[in-house]
Amino acid sequence: MLRKIILVVWMLVGLTAFCRSPAHGQQADSFATSAGPMSITFIGHGTLLFDFAGKIVHIDPVAKYADYAKLPKADIILITHEHVDHLDPVAIREISTATTEVVGTAACREKVPGIAVLANAEKRIFAGITVQAVPAYNLVHKREDGSPFHPKGRGNGYVLSFGDRKIYVAGDTENIPEMLELSGISIAFLPMNLPYTMTPAMAADAARSFLPKILYPYHYGDTDPEELVRLLAENKEIEVRFVLCVDVSGWAQRAV
Ligand code: ZN
Ligand code: ZN
Repeated sequence: MLRKIILVVWMLVGLTAFCRSPAHGQQADSFATSAGPMSITFIGHGTLLFDFAGKIVHIDPVAKYADYAKLPKADIILITHEHVDHLDPVAIREISTATTEVVGTAACREKVPGIAVLANAEKRIFAGITVQAVPAYNLVHKREDGSPFHPKGRGNGYVLSFGDRKIYVAGDTENIPEMLELSGISIAFLPMNLPYTMTPAMAADAARSFLPKILYPYHYGDTDPEELVRLLAENKEIEVRFVLCVDVSGWAQRAV
């Protein structure tokens, strides 16, 4: 009992620190794959870090969310699109070496010259890891002038293959019909901040269209991630996990 209380207090202290300063309190989850262990570190908002088979993959590194001088150098950097909460040339410089593969969209290359460009549906191997770009766009949520926040064909989501595990990082998107074509997704990251990406109902619909084993809502701003858990209560095949500190007490209870 005492150990349990100490653990809860330790977690609350740790998570409170995380809330105040994401740069010093990232959370990590580890998974087994057919090619060795893989860990995911949650940097904040839409920013992630994968460590798999000695390879470091940064997703949308942004210096606002972490001190990149203290994070490992990248073998691969994947940029979903050119918005400032996803593309930060300073963070990219900080984690790049002579051999780092930086991959993004054509619009990203206008801001970071020389990067490799993947169009929607293109698949290539970078540093030994298969990366497929998939569409990410808005159907419903639009700017006042009627243009979507994320026009079709401009941004990417990515499906990465780590051994037998396929990881889908959706980028900024809604529940688009192309998600029906995703198959065998082990772990998915779906965005649900408004008005730019999905409502919890849209994210639940998206998840039902390709049935990931584990679903992390991310990039969710003020949206309550618990709502997604409620909406997917009947879909026992999908395990919803939280990555960011929105509800400290709730997260600590679940973790214990
Ligand atoms: Zn965006
Ligand atoms: Zn965004």
